[in-house]
Amino acid sequence: MTIECAKELAEITKRNVNEQDRTQLMEALVLLYDELYNELNNKYTVRFAHLESTPLKVGDIVKPDSIIGKIGNTGDSTATHLHIDCVKGLQTGRYSLLDIENNKPEPDPRQLNYFIDEKLFHIKPVITSFYCDPEYQAELRKVHFGYDLVPEDRHRTKTHYDIHWNRSINGRVVAINNDKTGYGLCVYVVFER
Ligand SMILES: [Zn+2]
Repeated sequence: MTIECAKELAEITKRNVNEQDRTQLMEALVLLYDELYNELNNKYTVRFAHLESTPLKVGDIVKPDSIIGKIGNTGDSTATHLHIDCVKGLQTGRYSLLDIENNKPEPDPRQLNYFIDEKLFHIKPVITSFYCDPEYQAELRKVHFGYDLVPEDRHRTKTHYDIHWNRSINGRVVAINNDKTGYGLCVYVVFER
C-alpha cells in the first residue's frame, strides 16, 4: 500500500496541479501517512545474527517455540554466540549498530527485553555483552544496541544451541541475509504489538 501511494504521489507531481489533483494529492498523503504510522508504531523487527544455520525462508510464520536456527559464529564474530537486536518498523535491509545509534532504524529495548528468557534456548541464557555495554563500547568503539547471548551449558554440550521463538504472538520472516563481514547469517522476523 505504501508503495502504491508513493507511486501515485510521484505521478501527480509530474502534472500541472489543478484543484482535483490537489484533493487527490491530499488523500494520497493522508493514506501514506497512515501506512507509515502503522509500520513504525505497531511493527517491530527482531534480528537473530551470526547463525550457524536456519530452517526458515522469507515468508515463513514463526509460532511459539518454532525454531529460528542454530547459534553460530558466522560473519564478524570471534566466538559462537547469538547477537539479537530489535528495532521499530518492518525492516529488511542491512543496518549496523551505528545506523541504530542514528535512529535509522530506531531501537526498541522494551520489545528486545521480552526475548531474553529461558524459552529462547530452553535453558538459562547468559548475557556476554549487555545492551549499551560500556566494556563493549570501550573495546569496539560502538554502542551495543543489542544483547550477545550464549546458553548456560555451552561449555559442556551443544544441546541448547537451537534458538526458539519465545513470544506468545506469531512473527513473520521478512529477510534472511548472509553478510560475511557483518552479522553473518541473520534472520529478520517482524511482529506486531
Ligand atoms: Zn552483539
